[in-house]
Amino acid sequence: MLVLHDEATLLHETIEILNGESMRALESPSRILQLVSAISQAHPVHELRVLSSTSASLENIQALHDLVASTHDKQYLEHLRTIHAAWVKAGIIQQSGSVLPECFPLQGLTIGTPKPPRDLNARPGYFAFDLSTGIAEHTWTSALASANLAAEGAKLIVRGRDGLKDPTKDVLALCRPPGHHCTTNLAGGYCYLNNAVVAVEALRHWTTPDDKRPLRIAILDLDFHHGNGTQSYFYKDPKVFYASVHGDGEYPYYTGGEEETGEGDGIGTNLNLPLPLVSSLEAYLEKLEVAMDRLGSFKPDYLLVSLGFDTYEHDPLGAFAIKTADYRVIAEKARTAAGLKSVPALLLLEGGYVLDALGPNMLSFLAGWETAK
Ligand SMILES: [Zn+2]
Repeated sequence: MLVLHDEATLLHETIEILNGESMRALESPSRILQLVSAISQAHPVHELRVLSSTSASLENIQALHDLVASTHDKQYLEHLRTIHAAWVKAGIIQQSGSVLPECFPLQGLTIGTPKPPRDLNARPGYFAFDLSTGIAEHTWTSALASANLAAEGAKLIVRGRDGLKDPTKDVLALCRPPGHHCTTNLAGGYCYLNNAVVAVEALRHWTTPDDKRPLRIAILDLDFHHGNGTQSYFYKDPKVFYASVHGDGEYPYYTGGEEETGEGDGIGTNLNLPLPLVSSLEAYLEKLEVAMDRLGSFKPDYLLVSLGFDTYEHDPLGAFAIKTADYRVIAEKARTAAGLKSVPALLLLEGGYVLDALGPNMLSFLAGWETAK
């Protein structure tokens, strides 16, 4: 597996309110360090390629900014870029502090459509839906680096490595912060930019214009939590099929039901498979098989996987009973599904919070994925 990493993804460090307490966010730079270490030790089975969005060519930076700007709300992006400095300048926090929301413009609280507030303390609540997504000094830099890994991964699976078309090569992007909860105008669940959304638009951007048929893209979300942001972006899009296996009734709480099947032209291209808590591999595979059947029948040109390891049995934010060895089985099942076996795939890192299990869980998953090819 070709694995993409950018050291700028390590810069973002913030706090969250969890279980009534303010603490360092469980989504930490150490997660990536654990994965980089495990993947480096597995060389040459896996190849780690280090990119740098901060020193990329102007052309690449412009392409990245265009992709992010075309997929996310303009005022939201401005907020992400500037709010930390504004709070420091106003004396609300120190340079090392984090911006967190105070008040949300919820339904029933406002009359008409609320506007972005001028008050600096009010603004974070307008652009977020929870208290797990603090904005610190380097959050924007890391979020952009994370989106860049998704975009570069997309470019690689379209064009092939080093410009040589090689459809047998899949790519794993070690995205951090993760992306699938971001709705493109609201941060939440540790997510600031939606990397899967950026990747889909990058796939469309890099595909040669002589291919007249619109691309068909399958997204398999294997994080413990429902990817509400990715679902909402593609909810009416008949060319993107989103399927998710996730904890029933769990965060983000208000999405992920089986009745959410798409809207308008997109009806039938959204599949939610909530799974009861404490489910083990057997129950998980039953849901996964349903997801793979539907994604395979869609006959996609590309497969994106939102890959989270908070399905692991000891994860503090998950509640399944998946063990390290199970990830190999899950990956094999996903990679060998009818209609998907030869489809180029891009894996995007989402959650997973047991630090010393992240490396073994990822290697187990990749072993299954590569064997299946
Ligand atoms: Zn998650």
